[in-house]
Amino acid sequence: MIEATQDLASRRVRHEAVRRPVTVVGVEPVGANSLSVTFEGAALAGFTSLGFDDHCKFIFEDAGGEEAKRDFTPRRFDPHRNWLTLEFALHEGGAASEWAERALPGSAATIGGPKSSVVVPTGYAWHLLAGDPTAAPAIARRLEELPEGTRAIAILLDPAGSGDRLLSSRAEMDVRWTKEEGAFVKEIRSIKLPEGPGFVWCAGEAGLMAQLRNLFVTERQHPRSALRIAGYWKLGSAGVHETIESSVA
Ligand SMILES: Cc1cc2nc3c(=O)[nH]c(=O)nc-3n(C[C@H](O)[C@H](O)[C@H](O)COP(=O)(O)OP(=O)(O)OC[C@H]3O[C@@H](n4cnc5c(N)ncnc54)[C@H](O)[C@@H]3O)c2cc1C
Repeated sequence: MIEATQDLASRRVRHEAVRRPVTVVGVEPVGANSLSVTFEGAALAGFTSLGFDDHCKFIFEDAGGEEAKRDFTPRRFDPHRNWLTLEFALHEGGAASEWAERALPGSAATIGGPKSSVVVPTGYAWHLLAGDPTAAPAIARRLEELPEGTRAIAILLDPAGSGDRLLSSRAEMDVRWTKEEGAFVKEIRSIKLPEGPGFVWCAGEAGLMAQLRNLFVTERQHPRSALRIAGYWKLGSAGVHETIESSVA
């Protein structure tokens, strides 16, 4: 087991703001209701994403020909080929979601940022990762980055009900899939958290995340230095990002 004596403080690292023109090299399904889109471009040289929950601006032409911007998690970056992969959770009436469904090799877009990364140490005794399909790319990335000797509990809300996203980790992993919000919150409430210092990370629809904030901050009094909760979208509003709790300013 990793000792809890190492520095467990999160830190923010700032990056130069760069806009990078890219084109699609491949589109693949991830589970039943998401698409993995891989982009290439010489401008991706030097792309830096140090934190699993970083976001870049995906800048694209919407169906009406207007420029639109939405936040997406850098799921994977291959610095040898300058290939960046984003994963799009598909939903009705979303400009970015519709763009991903239309994307073909050669489709053009622009990637902005990440402007900064929050680095959360992996040396906690356990990590709780909870979220909906928009959080699944960050959760999958974190699970891949966690080392042996720590524990990861991942609770995913997957309304498509497929639960067939492949997740891998060197950490001891406990993955639970739920199909609707009530069951998702109930599952999180029911968890007996392991001993030792742990980090809680949650992202998804803003109203749902506000409920999780109440659970961890008000009810459980989890240390706020070991908590990050974010609204990745808001029912009825386009392109919303709300930081609800953050372990770092
Ligand atoms: C830091 C950060 C990282 C993110 N990473 C990812 C990621 O890796 N993958 C990903 O898919 N999303 C991610 N998101 C969420 C994504 O930015 C939003 O879902 C965004 O609104 C999608 O844009 P859109 O153009 O498809 O829909 P919009 O045009 O923004 O929204 C249209 C309508 O759809 C609703 N809506 C938006 N998103 C969803 C959804 N997922 N399900 C159901 N209804 C929705 C809106 O409330 C609105 O009513 C992230 C958000 C943040 C803040």
